Amino acid sequence: MGNINGLQNISSFFSDTERMPLLFLGHGSPINAIEENEFVTGFRDIAKTIPKPNAILCISAHWFIKGTKVTSMEMPKTIHDFYGFPQELYEVQYPAKGSPVLANEVKNLLMPDLEGLDYDWGLDHGAWSVLRHLYPKADIPVVQLSIDYSKEADFHFLCGSKLQSLRDKGVLIIGSGNIIHNLRMVDYENFDKDNYGYDWAKEVRESINSKLLEGDFELLINYKEKIHHSNKAIPSPDHYLPLIYILGAKYKEEKINFFNDKLVGGSLSMTSLFIQ
Ligand code: ZN
Repeated sequence: MGNINGLQNISSFFSDTERMPLLFLGHGSPINAIEENEFVTGFRDIAKTIPKPNAILCISAHWFIKGTKVTSMEMPKTIHDFYGFPQELYEVQYPAKGSPVLANEVKNLLMPDLEGLDYDWGLDHGAWSVLRHLYPKADIPVVQLSIDYSKEADFHFLCGSKLQSLRDKGVLIIGSGNIIHNLRMVDYENFDKDNYGYDWAKEVRESINSKLLEGDFELLINYKEKIHHSNKAIPSPDHYLPLIYILGAKYKEEKINFFNDKLVGGSLSMTSLFIQ
């Protein structure tokens, strides 16, 4: 296996592959982990179009901490980081292995921005609630990368760009969040109404989608000043920044394809991207 010096070299572990696509997944409510609906069908269908990855690197909205860290344990635990949901959801396990080799490679690529290898976190629901639909067998190793809340979006874009080379090593990079995410304004009475969004949410979705297609990432990085109603659509950056990582890891010539592109509960979007 060529690991005489420990975990230095990803090439001796992961075969070269065709370049892996990028995914941004709108994960929505944790309940999507155990529900059948059009969004989970969307997750399943997209996985069928992707060659089996050697490993997955997930940037989840729910690991939003001081500092950039990468999970490095052999067996990440399933974290149930939510409250007030049915017991069934707390019993879900996603027993994918970790990948210390990939974690070490991420560390090398993100130097000096990466503050350390992590042995405490695991897989939060931003990761497993979608992964269990994409890869129900949990037979692909998963590593999570944290999002440093003390940094602005341009930092996260740069981090994403430093991860690009992993895609040629069979690493599927997934950003898991929600582009429009305002929990305080969710209209629960209309949660099941198809594609239901407030006017400002419709406007933001339209404007972000068109900027994605135009490749105007500078505007998306400077969303606070440049996107009208961003204070309502993106009241905190945690669910938006996974998108910025994915855009950073995109090659210029690649195309962005939308799926699950709907609003729910007025103030959330499930918009997901497949980039190749
Ligand atoms: Zn979330």
